[in-house]
Amino acid sequence: MAGNWKMYKTVQQTADFFQHFNPLVNGVSKCEIVVFPSFISIPAARAATENGAVRIGGQDLHWGKEGAYTGEVSAGMLAAAGCEWVLVGHSERRLYGFETDADVLKKTQSAVEAGLTPVVCVGERLEERKADKTEQVLLEQFAGGLAGLTEEQFSKVIIAYEPVWAIGTGHTATPQIAAEAHALIRHEVERRFGRGAAESDRILYGGSVKPDNIEGLMKEEELDGALVGGASLDPTSFSKIVQAA
Ligand code: PEP
Repeated sequence: MAGNWKMYKTVQQTADFFQHFNPLVNGVSKCEIVVFPSFISIPAARAATENGAVRIGGQDLHWGKEGAYTGEVSAGMLAAAGCEWVLVGHSERRLYGFETDADVLKKTQSAVEAGLTPVVCVGERLEERKADKTEQVLLEQFAGGLAGLTEEQFSKVIIAYEPVWAIGTGHTATPQIAAEAHALIRHEVERRFGRGAAESDRILYGGSVKPDNIEGLMKEEELDGALVGGASLDPTSFSKIVQAA
């Protein structure tokens, strides 16, 4: 269960969140919990979760090791700050950061090289779903963003299926729609990286996941977890999602 905080929460609000959240998930052992705060709140999040079950990740990274890239943060910097995870290719990065599948591939490679677990986001826009292009879009994103990895690199990757029309809209995908997309992605994993990879790869669903729809989603065997935006900002609602999982 992963929480993407996007551009929310100051350093102080981050500390306050974990003060409430930690006791609510104390003893959870059947699922991993990861929170992706803003870069500036990573040290506070790490300090607040040091001895607990929650892991911390960055929301983005630059593909380079270091260099003249103003405003950017590298995989190595995230790892040195105690991050174990990183989001790659979130639809908001693709939209506002003009990130391409080629960027996603380079960032994913860089994340794996630094020992981070990349959560690579794919998903179709509403007009693409309406035009019956979901499959085409997902396969293109896979071909450009993931297929260039080695088997070894791919074994470290987690994929998040996030239909863009479901993100922040309250229109979550039905469990069936999500499961169909996951099955399609898993089939592509098998075609490109083999049966073992398809069986072991974890695919998360993201898009308006809330405490009242998580159970229905998690009943689908195809869904291995969730990437949660808005509902992860509140300690009570995110803990309910974790407990349901
Ligand atoms: C997200 O930002 O990855 C996300 C899924 O957001 P929300 O849960 O708010 O739709």
